[in-house]
Amino acid sequence: MFENLSERLERSFKILKGEGKITELNVAETLKDVRRALLEADVNYNVAKKFTEEVKEKALGQNVLTAVRPGELMVKIVHDELAQLMGSKATEINLKGTPAIILMSGLQGSGKTTFSGKLAHLLKTKQSKKPLLVACDVYRPAAIEQLRVLAEQIAVPVYFDLESKDPVSIARRGVAEAMAQGCDVVIIDTAGRLAIDEEMMREIQAVKEAIRPSETLFVVDSMTGQDAVNTAKEFNDRLDFDGVVLTKLDGDTRGGAALSIRTVVDKPIKFVGMGEKMDALDVFHPERMADRILGMGDIVSLVERAQQLYDEREARRLEERIAKDQFDFNDFLTQIHQIKKMGNIKELAAMIPGVGKALKDIDINDDAFKSIEAIIYSMTPEERAKPHILDGHRRKRIALGSGTTVQDVNKLLTQFTQTRKMMKTLQGFKGGKMPKMPSM
Ligand code: GDP
Repeated sequence: MFENLSERLERSFKILKGEGKITELNVAETLKDVRRALLEADVNYNVAKKFTEEVKEKALGQNVLTAVRPGELMVKIVHDELAQLMGSKATEINLKGTPAIILMSGLQGSGKTTFSGKLAHLLKTKQSKKPLLVACDVYRPAAIEQLRVLAEQIAVPVYFDLESKDPVSIARRGVAEAMAQGCDVVIIDTAGRLAIDEEMMREIQAVKEAIRPSETLFVVDSMTGQDAVNTAKEFNDRLDFDGVVLTKLDGDTRGGAALSIRTVVDKPIKFVGMGEKMDALDVFHPERMADRILGMGDIVSLVERAQQLYDEREARRLEERIAKDQFDFNDFLTQIHQIKKMGNIKELAAMIPGVGKALKDIDINDDAFKSIEAIIYSMTPEERAKPHILDGHRRKRIALGSGTTVQDVNKLLTQFTQTRKMMKTLQGFKGGKMPKMPSM
C-alpha cells in the first residue's frame, strides 16, 4: 500500500541531507518534490498545493533544534501534516438509538456489501453488539444472496424481501424486525449503480429520510483515486453522510483517495477495508496511516524526543568544550538561556549533562539569572571568551555597566570557575570510570 508514495517522499527528503539548516531555498526544492510525489499518488491538485504550502510555513517558522537535522525535521513536519490531512484523530461511528441504524451508500462494486458484513462482525465480536443486516438492493437478487451468505458466515441475522421493489419499505420493516428480535444495531445495505445516477440518489435519500439513521457511511473503492474523491463529493452533497469507508486498501492503491477525501468533503474516514475476508477491517487511525505512508517512524519519534528534551547535539558540543577547557561565558550564557526556555530549573537542570549537575549544586533561581546575565552582557566578546583576562579594572567596569557591584562580579567569576572545575570532574565520571572519592 502506498509504496510509490512512500518511496518518492523519502527521496524528496534526501534533498535536505547534508544541509546544515532549513532555508527558503532548500525547503522550496524539497517541497516541489513532495508535491510531485503527492500528485503522482493521485492526490487532488488543490489538496497537494495547500499541503505543501502549510508544510513550508511550518518548516520555515520552526525553531530548529540543532540535535535534529533539517531532513529529519522535514519528515516530522510532513508526517504531522499528513495525519492532519487525514483527520488527525480516529473518529468513531455513532451507535446511539435503539436500535442504532447505520445506512450504507456508495457505487456498485465499491465494497458496500462486504463492508456491511465486516462491520456487523466487528460490532458483534469486539463490542458485543447484536446486529441485524438488511438487504435493500431491490435490483440485484445476487446482491441479496451475497449478503445472506456473509450473514450466515458471521452468524448474524439478515432481513430481506425478494418480492418487494420498495427499498424504503424494506428498510422500515428491517428496523421493526431488529426491534422484534432484540437487535441493537441495524446495518442497511443499499443498491448501488456503476455511476452516479439520479434515481439511485433519490432512492437512498428517501431511505435516509424514512429511517433517520444515526450514522450514514459512504463506501468507496480506494483504487479509484481521484474518481473516489469526485464520487464522495456528489454523495456528500446529496446525503450529507457522516463518514467514509475506504475499501481495498490492501491492493495496489496509490493513496490519492485516502489523502484527499477528508479535505474535499470535510468528513472523516472511519474505516478501511484491508481484504475480502470478514475480519479484514480496520478502524482508521490518521496518525498510524501517516506512519505507514512515511515508513520512518524512527525519525518521527526521534524528532519528537529532541523537541521535548534538551538539545543533545549542543550538549555534545559543550562537553567537548568542557573537556578542552574551552567553556567560557558565551557557553554559560547559552546554557542559561536554554534552561530558562525550558521552565522549571531544578527539574530540568538534572537533564543537562555536566552543566546541569553543576548548576544544580550551586543554588540557582530565576532572579539569580538576571544579574548573571547582566554581568555577562556587560563583558566584551573577548572577555566572555577568555575569562582569565578579567582583572580588577575590567571587573569594575563590568559592575558599573551591569548595575551590580564588584563583589557580585567576583562572586560570578568564582562560581564560573567552580562550575568549570566541577564540570570537568563530572565529565571524568562518564564512560564507566569510578568517581574518585574525596579524602576525608
Ligand atoms: P458492493 O457492490 O458495493 O456491495 O461491493 P461488494 O461488497 O460486492 O465488493 C465488490 C468486490 O470487492 C468483491 O469482490 C469484494 O470481495 C471485493 N472487496 C470488498 N472490499 C474489499 C477489500 O477491502 N479488499 C479487497 N481486496 N477486496 C474487497
